[in-house]
Amino acid sequence: MFMTWLSFLLYLVYLEICLEVMDDKPNPGTLSENSERLFSFGVIADIQYADLEDGYNFQGNRRRYYRHSLLHLQGAIEDWNKESSTPCCVLQLGDLIDGYNAQYKASEKSLEVVMNAFKMLEVPVHHIWGNHEFYNFSRDYLTNSKLNTKFLEDQIVHHPETMPSENYYAYHFVPFPKFRFILLDAYDLSVLGIDQSSPKYQQCMKILREHNPNVELNSPQGLSEPHFVQFNGGFSQEQLNWLNDVLTFSDTHQEKVVIVSHLPIYPDSFNSVCLAWNYRDALAVMWSHQCVVGFFAGHTHDGGYSQDPFGVHHVNLEGVIETAPDSQAFGTVHVYPDKMILKGRGRVPDRIMNFKKEASFHF
Ligand SMILES: [Zn+2]
Repeated sequence: MFMTWLSFLLYLVYLEICLEVMDDKPNPGTLSENSERLFSFGVIADIQYADLEDGYNFQGNRRRYYRHSLLHLQGAIEDWNKESSTPCCVLQLGDLIDGYNAQYKASEKSLEVVMNAFKMLEVPVHHIWGNHEFYNFSRDYLTNSKLNTKFLEDQIVHHPETMPSENYYAYHFVPFPKFRFILLDAYDLSVLGIDQSSPKYQQCMKILREHNPNVELNSPQGLSEPHFVQFNGGFSQEQLNWLNDVLTFSDTHQEKVVIVSHLPIYPDSFNSVCLAWNYRDALAVMWSHQCVVGFFAGHTHDGGYSQDPFGVHHVNLEGVIETAPDSQAFGTVHVYPDKMILKGRGRVPDRIMNFKKEASFHF
């Protein structure tokens, strides 16, 4: 009889574990109550503000709320400022103002409006550059603008190989011991925002044309690799070598790493048109290291998620620009010793992202 009860109890425990594993939709009400939380950070993508009436995307099937996107951002900032455990920082995943601003000669004004909204945020914001940044501004302009947040980087003494070059916009920082964020420049290889007479432009146009014979280079029609379009870009070998060096340092020092980029690099996490040109090269570098636990990107607007075979969680955040006024699109990620929990708002779903076993923190 005793054994029967014991077996039954064990069965209940087993059942509970199974249910816990299966449940990737946590109750948002319980997300903030775990005492093991190490730190948190905010995420938001594709705000694409413009002082324009609503419009539609290129395919005409998604409404874009150009003016309301500013209100969405202001709402997100209010929420982050009010959170009981204040995020250490916010990651702005790119496409802050819409390309239409350039047509109306409103680029600088719109950037100022959005940057003024960010002044209300009580924590630092790290800005990524997306294609819409380059529709509005040249790379040189961006480098000297408030969208350059490289001053927030952390440098590793005695490891000069982990210092990014000035040839691309990328850096790393450590908001919590042993947890490093790496911002990548997905338009390091691109025909956007650079002088058309420069050798780099010629090199990038050659890459694009080799893969895309369409007259309209923004069209993926008929392409075997549909991500070779003008609105995407890629990573130079120089940047990938630097990434490899930083990840080597992180591996050696048992750090956890989250990579952030405007363009996603994992094909299963969404429709593949939006991938970085040489996503395979970036994946190869990332997969040759133990330390990476997550990859956050924007650009897709619809959002998406997938865990790759190496246990890295790929999150494509839902875009603010295609979010109706009665909804929201941003999130706070809470980091624990063994997992990250994304607490999404509005269109952004909650997610529990467990670290691969060997990647758990050991205290
Ligand atoms: Zn984009």
